[in-house]
Amino acid sequence: LSKITRRALLAGAGAIAGATAVGLAGEQPAALPEYPPVPQGAGELLNDAGELSPVRVEKHVLVNVDRFDAAAEAVRQELAEARREGRPAIASAARHSMGGQSLSQGGTVLTMDQRAMELDQSASTYRVAAGARWSSVIAALDAQGFSPAVMQSNNDFAVASTFCVNAHGWPVPYGPFGSTVRSFRMILADGSLVTCSRSENADIFRLTMGGYGLTGIILDLEVDMVPNVRLEPSYQRLSPSEFGTAFAAAAEDGEVLMAYGRLDVATSRFLDETLMITYRAVASDDPLPAATGSGFVSHAARQVYRAQPGSDRVKRLRWWMETSVSPRLAGHSTRNSLMNEPAATLSDGDPTRTDILHEYFVPAEALGPFTDACRDVVPRSFQELLNVTLRYVRDDPDSVLAYASGPRIAAVMSFTQEKSERAEADMARMTGALIDRVLDLGGSYYLPYRLHAELPQMQRAYPRLDEFVERKRALDPDERFRNALWDRIRRTV
Ligand SMILES: Cc1cc2nc3c(=O)[nH]c(=O)nc-3n(C[C@H](O)[C@H](O)[C@H](O)COP(=O)(O)OP(=O)(O)OC[C@H]3O[C@@H](n4cnc5c(N)ncnc54)[C@H](O)[C@@H]3O)c2cc1C
Repeated sequence: LSKITRRALLAGAGAIAGATAVGLAGEQPAALPEYPPVPQGAGELLNDAGELSPVRVEKHVLVNVDRFDAAAEAVRQELAEARREGRPAIASAARHSMGGQSLSQGGTVLTMDQRAMELDQSASTYRVAAGARWSSVIAALDAQGFSPAVMQSNNDFAVASTFCVNAHGWPVPYGPFGSTVRSFRMILADGSLVTCSRSENADIFRLTMGGYGLTGIILDLEVDMVPNVRLEPSYQRLSPSEFGTAFAAAAEDGEVLMAYGRLDVATSRFLDETLMITYRAVASDDPLPAATGSGFVSHAARQVYRAQPGSDRVKRLRWWMETSVSPRLAGHSTRNSLMNEPAATLSDGDPTRTDILHEYFVPAEALGPFTDACRDVVPRSFQELLNVTLRYVRDDPDSVLAYASGPRIAAVMSFTQEKSERAEADMARMTGALIDRVLDLGGSYYLPYRLHAELPQMQRAYPRLDEFVERKRALDPDERFRNALWDRIRRTV
């Protein structure tokens, strides 16, 4: 276990200073009374992928213990110290959340970064350390002919954090990642170690899935894997009102194994058309090639992607490439190669701007009305929308903070935002308006991004939020596990 000094794993000091300089330090939740504020200059400023939530933490430790039997003690020691010194604590991994969900003001942040893994081929599961990144999971599974059942679209994130946001991906037909987790081991606030599954400590299992680290620190998990296969894409252009039900039907047809959609974001025909891409297995006697990373096409696409801001011409060019060029170039790929894409492929080097994600979940038949709502709200917001990816998620009967109370189409929206108070205020207004419209359509929104939702919106999207708060308090009466999401909830609930 090593102390990290002045080294933000994700954001360097320059990026943090940049965000503070434009006044966004005011975004931080105020220190709550029961924890002494960290003196100015003490501790360490950490940020996350949103680059808008610099948080001063008292202690930042890297948990890189790579033996299943030893990680518990390392975590316990840090929690015991936090308890003695009256500090909050939170686990973090790649910190690709965007609103301080992996940071604890004035607290201890434990960055989990591990690799330990064991495959059980007879059970089609693997046991994996909490902080293992998907890139190393894919590498280990690929070598044995397997593939993660569900993960996000990028490979930079860790496994336990994926469970704690209950992420979804584009393998179908699956619910969120938590639906593929059989069990996990976790250290609670009092230092005790629990094993949780749907039959053992089931209440903690359901609270922790999508529970943003507020119940404890996960050590390792037992997760489903599936055979790696060779896949071939097919492409179909549809109107947004046709897309939802066609996509849900394709995802559930038994032959499609991966699927996603896109919306045309060109200003002159904003969200008028969708593209559905579905992947089916291809039989072949050849052995599967090893998983590759992003290839030439991804890198070329990145150049066009980054040239979009302010240019309708480039947005139209991108749509033409996606709908007309990609189908001609696309060949076979493996499941693992498709999922082995780093988020950095699309990243922007501009220190004055940041990419901000939003995500909304709507019933299949509501996708048309959802795009109508976006057409009303987004163009007036002064925000630049670069991309909308569409996914399919089955319902989530397990987690207390479930975002999919039925099968849902997920719309992942990526904006480029100026790092300024004015842009932040515009973004908050736009987010509030979009959330209201989505809630009226029977949908919900995703919690790992900016924390702009008002409490009543959060309660409508997550009807069991009050129960979550009550049960978290029963499990962790001193509120040891605390992050910006909890600070926002607890001020009002
Ligand atoms: C470019 C990009 C693409 C994305 N694509 C997708 C996508 O396709 N699908 C999707 O669903 N989401 C997607 N996301 C959201 C992403 O899944 C979340 O932000 C996720 O949290 C990222 O993982 P991380 O390792 O960075 O987690 P972090 O941000 O480090 O942590 C997330 C949460 O997990 C908790 N946590 C971390 N480790 C532990 C542990 N060991 N025990 C207990 N709690 C823990 C933290 O406290 C925090 O609340 C994307 C985000 C970005 C930036």
